[in-house]
Amino acid sequence: MAYRVLIAQFMHETNTFSKLHTTLEDYRKRWLIEGEAMVPRFTGTRNEVGGYIDGVKKYGWEPVWAGAANATPSGKLTKECWETIRDMIVDAAKKAGKLDAVCLSLHGAAVTETEDDAEGALLEALRGIVGPDIPMVATLDLHANATTKMARHANALVSYRTYPHIDGYERAAQAAALVQEALEGRKKPRCLLVQPAMLEGADHGRTTQPGLMRDLLAKADAFEKEPGINVVSVQAGFTWADIPYTGPSVAVSHEPAAEARAKAVAAAMLDEIWKRRDESSSDYRPISDAITAARAGVGKKGPLVVADGTDNPGGGGYNDTTRVLQALIDANVENVAFGTIMDPGTVQQAIKAGVGAEIDVVLGGHTDPSMGGPVKARAIVKMLSDGEFKNDGPMNAGVETSMGPTAVLRIGGIDVVTISNRIQTIDLQVFLSQGIDPRTKSVLVVKSVQHFRAAYAPIAREVILVDSGGICSPDISRLNFTKLRRPIWPFDGINDPYAGQRA
Ligand SMILES: [Zn+2]
Repeated sequence: MAYRVLIAQFMHETNTFSKLHTTLEDYRKRWLIEGEAMVPRFTGTRNEVGGYIDGVKKYGWEPVWAGAANATPSGKLTKECWETIRDMIVDAAKKAGKLDAVCLSLHGAAVTETEDDAEGALLEALRGIVGPDIPMVATLDLHANATTKMARHANALVSYRTYPHIDGYERAAQAAALVQEALEGRKKPRCLLVQPAMLEGADHGRTTQPGLMRDLLAKADAFEKEPGINVVSVQAGFTWADIPYTGPSVAVSHEPAAEARAKAVAAAMLDEIWKRRDESSSDYRPISDAITAARAGVGKKGPLVVADGTDNPGGGGYNDTTRVLQALIDANVENVAFGTIMDPGTVQQAIKAGVGAEIDVVLGGHTDPSMGGPVKARAIVKMLSDGEFKNDGPMNAGVETSMGPTAVLRIGGIDVVTISNRIQTIDLQVFLSQGIDPRTKSVLVVKSVQHFRAAYAPIAREVILVDSGGICSPDISRLNFTKLRRPIWPFDGINDPYAGQRA
């Protein structure tokens, strides 16, 4: 008889410093899919759900599809939003009758108006229904603020090993394989988690160049080959969350007999994270450097890619700050494509005026004008569309994305992709779907801090990451933490990664 396996997704990276609470409507803009409708949507895609769909086929499981929910990072989930998604998954488990296993696709940094550890609460609720004995695994984003509650209720936490995150499919395949081994009685996985007294670390998980995170993952790979060690996951953490659990962590899934070794493995990983806490490959520069590079590159082949990293919607950025756009306008830089500014009102104004019309816009800067107020300019409406496309780059390949009603506005020498749904610029289709060939531009601006590199680094002549003063600032002294566990590095001058954790 086939094993009955519940499969569900709940994703959100919550920037608790954002003033924008996350609603069900925000989920609907990306996806909020109940039950088995998730299957046609993600069959053949390279995300975790695509990985689980193939796992079901490979192992001949009888699936119980609970649903899939994912929204662009923003502020805390409203109580209604959180409870609706939680209940969609929990009720599916209640109605399913006897289950043999649970496979989840989670983020690990979701915060709601009522829960600082939403994934821990979801896992706990599911464990209460399915009982203590069946395997329950979860994939996590490597920016999870993972908790001991998550580790207590899951049998394995399987985090991405790439940033940009291009291995969602592979991590789900790894999680599904472990579940199958457990179902066949060959494994009895348990999970433990350690978290150092650190707010930041592991180089925020960057894997695009040699360095700390790649070294950590190489160690994790080696430990995973040991008998009794199933999964070693490194979570770099998501800094912009005022909760007790923010920061890097290590999760080890192990066999019961290997518990002592698993603790030693976790301690070794934690020691490396602690010893190398000052290592950072982040290279934020002022906007003026980007303008200088843009001027120097006129006539050269391939675009300069300017990453507006502190307004990264993938970290809760408002996607409408304007300082980079204003600087490019002021400097009369030509042949630029800007992706994107979220301004649904201006899109509607453009739709009313029609393609070819000239309009006076008050563009962007509406959410928090202190991060760069609206750009006032004359714009030509170049193109209008529904803003739908399918990702064809390395990240989330095959996944449908909606920017909502979209207008390409020409301001001077700049084509501004003006959108209605907040999205991170990770795929070339942000431009290609709007009639803009990014390879032919002198300058591309992307609202992203790291994920853009998967698709844009191969076409870029140069990449510059700028700090435009957005909400995802790397300057943690600008963030007002009130709920963080203390003492913690770098705030409290500690000299021990276990500070505050020993009785
Ligand atoms: Zn991430």
